[in-house]
Amino acid sequence: MACTIRESSPFSAAQGELEAVLREAGLFVAREFSAPSDRPIIPRVPQDQFDRLVSSALPEEGQSLDSVRQRAEAFLARYTARLLPAGFSAMVTASPNPYALLAEILACAVNQHVMRGDVCELACRLEQRVIGWLGKFMEYPAASGTLTSGGATANLLAIAAARTSALGSGVRRRGLDGVPLVAYASSQTHVSTMRAMDILGIGADNLRTLPVDNRYRLDLAALEDAVRSDRDAGRRPFAVVAQGGSVAVGAVDPLDAIAGLCERERLWLHVDAAYGGPAAGVEPAKQLFRGLARADSVTVDPHKWLSVNYECGCLLVKRAEGLEAAFAPDEASYLKSDTATDAPDFMNRGIEFSRGFRALKLWATFVGLGARKLRMAISQDIHLAEHFAGLLARDDHWALCAPPSLSIITFRFVPDSGLSSDYLDALNERIPAALRADGRMYLGSARIDGRIALRSCLINHRVTDADVAGWVRIIKERGMCLHRDNRAWWTKPVRQSPS
Ligand SMILES: *Cc1c(COP(=O)(O)O)cnc(C)c1O
Repeated sequence: MACTIRESSPFSAAQGELEAVLREAGLFVAREFSAPSDRPIIPRVPQDQFDRLVSSALPEEGQSLDSVRQRAEAFLARYTARLLPAGFSAMVTASPNPYALLAEILACAVNQHVMRGDVCELACRLEQRVIGWLGKFMEYPAASGTLTSGGATANLLAIAAARTSALGSGVRRRGLDGVPLVAYASSQTHVSTMRAMDILGIGADNLRTLPVDNRYRLDLAALEDAVRSDRDAGRRPFAVVAQGGSVAVGAVDPLDAIAGLCERERLWLHVDAAYGGPAAGVEPAKQLFRGLARADSVTVDPHKWLSVNYECGCLLVKRAEGLEAAFAPDEASYLKSDTATDAPDFMNRGIEFSRGFRALKLWATFVGLGARKLRMAISQDIHLAEHFAGLLARDDHWALCAPPSLSIITFRFVPDSGLSSDYLDALNERIPAALRADGRMYLGSARIDGRIALRSCLINHRVTDADVAGWVRIIKERGMCLHRDNRAWWTKPVRQSPS
């Protein structure tokens, strides 16, 4: 084809077409947000069905906006996980909120990126402002930092900042140069911490994963011993990663005591509160977070307990300079500001250059709901976890694995007395798949002290007492079926051998 001079944009639509299509799309959005859909909670997408929806051939010719809308709506409505009504209680998964939804649509319309303060002034100022609000919400004073794609990225930025703080900015050019850095966390730490150590070339084995107490909190004496023995061996301790709500059981490490140790030992204190952070300013959880304000950096995921639609993570820091020392490029002349502004250059605070306008949906959530309602929703989730535990305690078909902490509850289904632990592991391990096939609700499992537990994380602000009571019935029903039919999947004795 001969190259022609462009006379019209390939994106230009007929008069009124975009409006009409968006009006239809708006109806889809409203349906998804109101009528709890009847699709299974986690629909399967078999390859052959997928191939019918999306051909493997690259589309050579285009289609109208409305036909793209119809096709997308058809597969979204049938094949996406149902996160909005109560029911999905696995991992750390929130249900979307309408304020963030609206903000995301509007941000997409203007396609605002967030990079250099002078060209993205509004977006950079807004990001700075909402990070300040988030810090206030969590009672982490004078917060600065950056929004990220999620908690894993925020943890990576924190460890990079800790490394640069320990070794100076020369480490960015020379690398570690043989300096044997070590960091510390509890055995409950999220795998993204190991990944960050790995990516930064410090090595995942140089994260010491230390013992916990009977409530899964980092053992302070073990931390003191580990730091001392590493120093004695000539290694270079540089950071502690404390849990502000561990993913398995919701444990919050003794932050105040750890902060004291970090100050004495000159270690960077990072708190991974990706999940639990929003509870730091909320009764009855607040006391658990005493000492958070002393941390050098804190990860918190607004896309978890604040129900901001994906993606929205955040790294809070006391001093933005600590992040900028780790990330601001020396040389990038085409990226230099040409107009003076005090709006921050967010590209200097992390690994991303072009970023989406995440701040708008966090702003919309705070402005739309207000901090008071958000606190109330979080506090209700915590009470709901206690209520859940109470329901289980009243029935001898259940055993709690750890006391509920924040809004996480871990437990086992015990259909009968005298069953062996291995059998109960195998039974409980099969329950999530059975729930998924059933389609009414879903929770996952976690390994706790080597045993398999069912785990529910209550951060969907739409869940009620009645939902939880219904879940207990559904899990029991599915568990009983598996137990009755255990010949199909268990060949060893089900009972404990008498000893
Ligand atoms: C969820 C979570 C992460 C990872 O966060 P993403 O947003 O999934 O990247 C890290 N740490 C903790 C404690 C978490 O709960």
